[in-house]
Order: sequence, then structure tokens, then C-alpha cells
Amino acid sequence: MNETGLSEEQIRNVLNDSKGQDLKYGRVLSSMCTYPHEIAVEAHMQFIESNMGDFGLFRGTYNLENEILGSLGDLLHHSEASGYMTTGGTESNIQAIRSMRNIFQRKDKCHRPNLVVPDSAHFSFDKVSDILDIELRKASLDKDLKVSIESVMSLIDENTIGLVAIAGSTEFGQVDQIDVLSDIAIKNNIFLHVDAAFGGFVLPFLEDSQEFDFSLPGVTSIAIDPHKMGLSTIPAGVLLFRSPDQLESLKADTPYLTVSTQYTLTGTRSGAAVAATWAVMNRLGKEGYRKVVSDCMSTTHYLLDRLAEIGVYPLIEPVMNVVALEIPEADLVRSRLAKEFNWQVSITQNPHGLRLVIMPHVTIEMLDSFVQDLKKVLDTL
Ligand SMILES: *Cc1c(COP(=O)(O)O)cnc(C)c1O
Repeated sequence: MNETGLSEEQIRNVLNDSKGQDLKYGRVLSSMCTYPHEIAVEAHMQFIESNMGDFGLFRGTYNLENEILGSLGDLLHHSEASGYMTTGGTESNIQAIRSMRNIFQRKDKCHRPNLVVPDSAHFSFDKVSDILDIELRKASLDKDLKVSIESVMSLIDENTIGLVAIAGSTEFGQVDQIDVLSDIAIKNNIFLHVDAAFGGFVLPFLEDSQEFDFSLPGVTSIAIDPHKMGLSTIPAGVLLFRSPDQLESLKADTPYLTVSTQYTLTGTRSGAAVAATWAVMNRLGKEGYRKVVSDCMSTTHYLLDRLAEIGVYPLIEPVMNVVALEIPEADLVRSRLAKEFNWQVSITQNPHGLRLVIMPHVTIEMLDSFVQDLKKVLDTL
């Protein structure tokens, strides 16, 4: 740090330069985030100093958070759900599993607990396993890239604390058979966490959706991210529990704050993202999100039609606005698309393919030019 500060102009010059080095979303087909809604940006700025780590000082923001939890509880068919706003899917997943672990330990078991997750689970579960010292058992996928029910059942034993189901897998946008997993969880008397970090703001707004939420009696917690398809600002995740006991198991005493307990993983916590989330959810309403999702799905189907014309097909029929493509030498194609044409795409691991996320910033014009460039790369492989 310099002894004396720079001028505002110097600061702005450096910031403008750095901002210029950041990619614009105009050629990004790899991200599950997008430009936040403008009302979210406005609210974020207005509440910029609000700290939900000490919400006794910020009662207004705290009320907004409660309204968000109520609305999302309604949307996910359990208006009494308890929870809080996290920094995103990773924190929601960590806390959901930590709660399972804490409640399981009270049952006086002495063996190392394990958690059964689909092979398609987000890498945050590897962090969960490391932090909580829980054995992660990865169940294989079936031909539709949903978790195999037989594989899940074969991995459950007396030290299994719970199952994870994915509603919108990061790589394939696939939804597991959560109704079946719900029955299995109930029969085995274990928890079932649904990771809907991406799909939570998609599935309820699709024309023909499937049950994935608290309407299924075995589902005990859900992660849903406003900062992905909810069009809020970062960091905005939400974790919801079916029962208040689950949240209670995360309680920590906070002796020197305005409130005496905390359930969160982080201490100081952004109230700006809370206000932003409240603003965009209330501005759009269900009708607005239905439009966002149906636009993304139309664009997704447009892409599939264009890809078929050049002989490229998806690994599975897309369930949401995530497309995984069957493509030779996906790694090479990905790096050539970036180097020669500036496109950002990602790859899927197993099966190996090219992955595109059709977020609201992705336009038909972008995709026309992307498909042309992809053809050029494939023609010269
Ligand atoms: C994005 C994602 C996460 C991680 O969320 P962050 O907000 O990046 O922490 C977890 N699970 C799924 C299914 C995701 O798509």
C-alpha cells in the first residue's frame, strides 16, 4: 500500500483498465451467472453498507430477507420453511450437510458418516466432504444422466446421513428422479438435500415441470441461487430447511452482537444482495420469471436446430437451458473456440462433451455466429 493515497482519477483509470480486461458476457456461453436485473443493481447500491451478520442494526433488510424466505418457501411448496440467505450454492450445500451431520451425531453413532451424492454433483460437495470429514459416496448415472437408483441404494448403509439429489445438474441441466429418492430417504430415515442452485429458478417456471421440491415428503432441504437464474446480484444464495430443528442445529452464540445467535457460515454478510434479491423477485413476479425462462428455452431450442444443421447433437434432450453436446475432442474444440474466436464454453467430464449455458444474455445473433465458428473448428480438426 502507498503511504499517501492516489487521486480519484488515478483510481478510476486503474479500475477502468481492469474492467476492460474482464470479459463481457457477449461471448460467454459457459457461465451460470449473467447481468443482474437493473432493479437489483439499484437496490444493491442503496443497501451497500447493510450487514446481515449483525441484523439487529438492519431491521429493514432483515424483514426483506424474511419476505424472500417466505416467497421461496411458497414457490417450493412449504411456506413454513426456515433458512437464510447464503453466499450461494456452495455455502448452502455445506450448511445443509453440516446440519445433517450435527443431527446424526446426536444419535450417538461413532462411525464416520457418509453422504450419497450423484456422480453429477457439483464440486462443492468435495469441499463439504473435506470440511466436515464426511465420506462422499458417488452414485453412478443412468443413460439419461440422472443418478442411478440402484447405485444409490447399493451405497446406503447404517452410517449414511443423507442423500443429495440434483435439480438441474451443473454439467447437463438434468433433474434426478427426486420422487423416487424421496421414498428411499423416508424408508431409510435419512435426510434428502436437493441442490437446485441453478434449477430452482427454472423448474417452477417451465411449461411442463416435474416435482422436485418440498411437495415430495422426503425432501428435507433445498439450495436455490438467486444470483444465477434469479437475476440478482452476487452473492445471493438461499438455503431452506423443512424443519426448524435443522436450522437450529447450526446455531452459534454471538455474545457481542445485537442479536445473540447466528446460524450462518459467514459472519459479516451482504445485506445488499438481500435487497437486490427482494427487488428483482418482486419486480418480476412469477409472470416475469416465466418469461425469462421461456425466452431462454426458445433460444436453447433455436441453438439445437442450428446445431443439427451442422451435424452436432446434444448428449441428452435439454431439460432446461443447459446444453451438453456430443463432440469429438471437446478439450481441443473448447480451446480453439477461445483462442481463435474468443468464445467461452466449458466441457463436461463424464461423458465428455461441450457444455453451453443459455443464460438471458445469450441472443440468437450470438448463437448464429457461434455455430458458424464451431463449424469452422470442426471442419479443420
Ligand atoms: C452453481 C452451482 C453450485 C454452486 O453455487 P455457487 O453459487 O457457485 O457457490 C452448486 N450446485 C449446483 C447444482 C450449481 O449449479
